[in-house]
Amino acid sequence: MKMELTQIETQDHEQVLRVRDADSGLSGIIAIHSTQLGPAAGGLRMRSYADEAAALEDALRLSRGMTFKNAAAGLPLGGGKAVIIGDPARDKTPEMLATFGRAVEALGGRYWTAEDMGMTPADMARVGTETRFVAGLADGPFASGDPSPVTARGIFNAIRTTARHRFGSSDLAGLRVAVQGLGHVGLHLCDLLHRAGAELIVSDLNDSAVTEAQARFAARVVAPEAILTVEAEILAPCAIGAVLNEVSIPDLRVQAVAGGANNQLATAGDGARLHARGILYAPDFIANGGGIINVATEILRIADHPSWVAEKLGELDATMDRTLTRAAQRGVSPNDVAEEIVAERLRHDAA
Ligand code: NAD
Repeated sequence: MKMELTQIETQDHEQVLRVRDADSGLSGIIAIHSTQLGPAAGGLRMRSYADEAAALEDALRLSRGMTFKNAAAGLPLGGGKAVIIGDPARDKTPEMLATFGRAVEALGGRYWTAEDMGMTPADMARVGTETRFVAGLADGPFASGDPSPVTARGIFNAIRTTARHRFGSSDLAGLRVAVQGLGHVGLHLCDLLHRAGAELIVSDLNDSAVTEAQARFAARVVAPEAILTVEAEILAPCAIGAVLNEVSIPDLRVQAVAGGANNQLATAGDGARLHARGILYAPDFIANGGGIINVATEILRIADHPSWVAEKLGELDATMDRTLTRAAQRGVSPNDVAEEIVAERLRHDAA
């Protein structure tokens, strides 16, 4: 049987497709939220979703998030995301990935895919055997490799800018920063913070990452359940989403939150909840935009990678500064302002 691509009708998205292939066992969704600013770009995630409805919900939510993230980073890219239903450790096969690549190719460049949860650079190379529209490759003329160091640089800038707005100086020397998650992003970020003289308080579920942070950065280690209640100047969530919620926010003992995890606010109301407690929140989809900037070098075929990335990180930081300035002037949550700035960019482009 042939691979099948069928449209799913939704309210808010330009195009949503169900991808099925009985031979390879592929079952997934490609969601294109917007191509207004350019081709939709966003990663491919593989997870054991409970059912197709759960996979669809994730793809719709994440692709919309990519429209915001790409616009906030000032990139000529729209928002998209793809998900494959299945356990990446058990169900993933080379045939499935190649078939997914054929589905992406069939969209003719309206959607660019890249690595996300459950995928490796080798998997993306397999997807790339069937499509030109794949980024995040380890090899090739414009390969951008692991985005995490650039993501961490963007978060580091966001932390400095947040510190300037909250404490009057971007000098991090002596400030306590609590970092949740010491994975690809968290460890790079700790390195930058340590060099800037910040005092680190860290936690991770993985003991070897914690031991490394202790040895390299003289970090104080706390248990995973304690990191959201430690006393510090800044909290940097770099692990999982939805950590800022109605349960955690009342117990936070920090004055600002600036980190790299995606979707840190459990609900839109949690931005206002932080604001009401006087905790300055650096919107995550601006703070972690370095990752997509790095991936964009591959999609946009940027020859002078280092200087282009540096320029874009500078613009990203200026967007954070503008967001926090406007939020302070109006006495509202920076998250609301960040969404407003993205909406302005989309409107401006449409005009
Ligand atoms: P990763 O999987 O390499 O690291 C995540 C780390 O968090 C792991 O070490 C894990 O053990 C730890 N962790 C999980 N749950 C935890 C908990 N409850 N408490 C403490 N630690 C916990 O992922 P990453 O690439 O470092 O990404 C981290 C976050 O940043 C994710 O939300 C990701 O979506 C986001 N992000 C990453 C990039 C990138 O370039 N890698 C770009 C943009 C956004």
